[in-house]
Amino acid sequence: MSNTPVNDNFALLPDSYLFSAVGAEVARFRDSYPDARVISLGIGDVTRPIVPAVTQAMRRAVDDMASAETFRGYGPEQGYMFLRQAIADGDYAGRGIEIGADEIFISDGAKSDLGNISDIFSRDCRVAVTDPVYPVYVDSNVMAGRAGQLTSQGWNRITYLPCTEATDFIPRLPETPVDLIYLCYPNNPTGTVLSAARLKEFVDYAREHKCIILYDSAYEAFISTPGVPRSIYEIEGAREVAIEFRSFSKTAGFTGLRCGYTVVPRGLTGKCADGSMLSLRDIWLRRQTTKFNGASYIIQRGAEAVYTPEGRSQIQAVIADYMRGARLLKAACVQAGLKTFGGTDAPYLWVKCPQGYDSQAFFRLLLERLCIVSTPGSGFGPAGEGYVRLTAFNTEAATAEAARRIAAIGVL
Ligand SMILES: *Cc1c(COP(=O)(O)O)cnc(C)c1O
Repeated sequence: MSNTPVNDNFALLPDSYLFSAVGAEVARFRDSYPDARVISLGIGDVTRPIVPAVTQAMRRAVDDMASAETFRGYGPEQGYMFLRQAIADGDYAGRGIEIGADEIFISDGAKSDLGNISDIFSRDCRVAVTDPVYPVYVDSNVMAGRAGQLTSQGWNRITYLPCTEATDFIPRLPETPVDLIYLCYPNNPTGTVLSAARLKEFVDYAREHKCIILYDSAYEAFISTPGVPRSIYEIEGAREVAIEFRSFSKTAGFTGLRCGYTVVPRGLTGKCADGSMLSLRDIWLRRQTTKFNGASYIIQRGAEAVYTPEGRSQIQAVIADYMRGARLLKAACVQAGLKTFGGTDAPYLWVKCPQGYDSQAFFRLLLERLCIVSTPGSGFGPAGEGYVRLTAFNTEAATAEAARRIAAIGVL
């Protein structure tokens, strides 16, 4: 026992009540019906194995570690130049976007960076998030003491930008002043995207109000609709206001390998209490060199292979496979008379609950009648109520079977 004072903000965080309740309900159902063939379209984890180009590169890297001439100890905290250059060329220069390797920071995943970025901003920053939202953005700000108190309308110091059918799933610009705006496109959980014109409104807003956009594009590789921005830096002026977060998790199945990166453009600044300006790139570098010792050499070699011609075509085939599943699920929902959003440029479908059902009741119906696990939308924020999320990340066979069950349910 100790009397050591703790970060009180942790006491503010509620248990992830809904998600644990949902997990318990699925476990109970499996216990009661051990023969039921339950298909999980709930969690956002991939199922396809790592592609050969990547595993071969990692094997070679393992051999590097076994030989005195090629052994590597601590690497650069910011990531190896071979990977940063591959990213700068492959994800940016190749698409006409000017991002230098010195503006790219490799990490063990986007979730770490999205949580850690909080370190470089003042506790007094006012934060805006879309609603529904990837919970990391909110909870990391609660931990930092920026969220205020939890009320029935959410945290009272956080500005919520509702994304519902009524807004076409497009967040409105904040009506009260904010310092940080989190955007995630293609969106988790709704699977919807923002057009370049809509994204430009946010970039213009941030330039005018001198605030920062934290842009999570973990799902950019799933975009197939021409013109949908893959990077916020496709938008003019975004280099002045945006930090971008990316991940190999969904793009290349790295959820268990762990690799992601964050782009902090040179010239992006924030203000100190005394009015002086600091380069966000420089203080993020300082934060990373102090608290992080770099991602694994072997994993970075694997990530580098994603940018080879073989790597690219292999991961594109996997993504095409997931998106075929998404189309099957979407068609099945339409056949069942369910209104469905997303699923075109993202592996998520956002399904509107039929009349008379809230998120949890519809989750239960899908579980009990179809043995399908979904995620109740209400777990992602107040505006998620009335929807469930289905993922297309299960195996091809399981997704196809789930689609058959949904289609056969009859018009709800
Ligand atoms: C999966 C996901 C990530 C990626 O997280 P990693 O830590 O890189 O695995 C980031 N943002 C969103 C919204 C996600 O769904």
